Amino acid sequence: MQCPVCARPAQNLTPNTLDGVVVGCGHCGSYRIHGGTFHEFVSLELAQRLAALEAAKLASQGGWPLVNARCLSAG
Ligand SMILES: [Zn+2]
Repeated sequence: MQCPVCARPAQNLTPNTLDGVVVGCGHCGSYRIHGGTFHEFVSLELAQRLAALEAAKLASQGGWPLVNARCLSAG
């Protein structure tokens, strides 16, 4: 797959059981996008996507940072 943040080649790490998408990107790291947030996330400008990912990383308590609706408004 293509990384939804930086558009570089990335791995799709999503478990079958998970609602959302887990991306493993060599540039951005591994992160999760909430299922209900994905389409809105990918329609953002690059700078807003980066800001949302950064917000998710700051809020993460270990494990995959989760990009959710709250992170989108951080940009
Ligand atoms: Zn990336």
